[in-house]
Amino acid sequence: MNREKMTRDLDNVDEEKFIEDLKEIILDAAKRCRNCNYCFTICPLFHSTRGFMSQTPSGIMQSINYALRWNLLKREDQEILRDLLYLCTTCNGCVLRCKSKATGLPVLDAIEAGRKLLREMMIGPLPQQRKPLKDIYLYGNPYGEKPETRVDWLKGLNVKMIPPESAEVLFYVGCTTAYEPNLHPIGKSLVRLFQYLHINFGILKEEVCCGEPARRMGDEGLFREMMTRNLDQFKSVGIKTIVTISPHCFNTFLNEYSSIQEEIKIQHYTQFLAEAFKRRTPLFKREISSVITYHDPCYLGKHNQIFSTPRELLKMIPGVKLVEMKMTKEESLCCGGGGGRMFAEVEEERRLSDMRIAQALEAGANIVATACPWCYKMLQTSIQDANLGNKIVVKDVAEILSEELN
Ligand code: SF4
Ligand code: SF4
Repeated sequence: MNREKMTRDLDNVDEEKFIEDLKEIILDAAKRCRNCNYCFTICPLFHSTRGFMSQTPSGIMQSINYALRWNLLKREDQEILRDLLYLCTTCNGCVLRCKSKATGLPVLDAIEAGRKLLREMMIGPLPQQRKPLKDIYLYGNPYGEKPETRVDWLKGLNVKMIPPESAEVLFYVGCTTAYEPNLHPIGKSLVRLFQYLHINFGILKEEVCCGEPARRMGDEGLFREMMTRNLDQFKSVGIKTIVTISPHCFNTFLNEYSSIQEEIKIQHYTQFLAEAFKRRTPLFKREISSVITYHDPCYLGKHNQIFSTPRELLKMIPGVKLVEMKMTKEESLCCGGGGGRMFAEVEEERRLSDMRIAQALEAGANIVATACPWCYKMLQTSIQDANLGNKIVVKDVAEILSEELN
């Protein structure tokens, strides 16, 4: 069963059926797993944890499977199961690997179904994830920030507010860029790029969270509430194209909101810029001598196969040298921030973002570029914690393009 079907079923608010469907997803996938181990080494947990069998894609899936089959969900060891399920970064690597080498199991759907079950039973999410969920419900963002300050970063930028104004393109900023001061340069870079390209764009005056963190943390009810709020807004302003900064918002609108894809074109900003640059070739002010490596955000790359577009954008800048890290594209290493992990510390031997920075340095890069606010934050924290700022910096693709535009 796919997510859309689950969403339709929820329309009928048939809780019993919802729970039975979740169990069916888990039991069916686990039954078909061959335990061939092909998915183990692609999983970021293989690299960041002690490598116990339970901390692997099929290990996590089988843990919830046996907890269901042996009726262990009500026992005191349910917290161990919860901590295991919420270790997953939802990077999708195992799904791709199983598809190419084994039977093509919906491993991630099974893990996420397990989270939803735990949430239904009040076992999940992780304790630190409860506040962000409450904050999404109360304030429309997972950071507990005031809704009225969401557009403060736009002061002086002359951007249309929808409503009362209207525009062809809705620039959906997302919670992290809107509220994190050190990410405001990414938002401002995109505003500059859109203005350079003469795009008729605007930003929702009352933008709210797309609901992705709620779904990843297993709170389907809250996800659906945010989906309804957003769909009502999108329909009421009559927008035809939505461009997002975050690959998480992009994936949510494109693949998880039912019914808008036929009416509204959903694009990540890298796709939008690539198309717009075909109509107006950008002029850059100088040759740069930077060595850049591109870190694939999981929800752009492994979830949506957008690998070449961001790299092509970077290659447009004269003089740029683009190098690849040893784990790249379909095999790229997750930064560790997806799947609700931005909101909780998990037990790991090594931080994924630290490993990623080490890989970027090994590739000879002095800039690690990415196209996701969460990847940006994770990588930047690793650079700062290791005092590596004199060797490497993290930049968003939009920032690099905007800085180099003439
Ligand atoms: S690759 Fe697929 S079939 Fe093999 S162990 Fe992993 S989930 Fe199971
Ligand atoms: S989605 Fe990623 S982190 Fe989660 S089990 Fe699969 S490979 Fe591991």
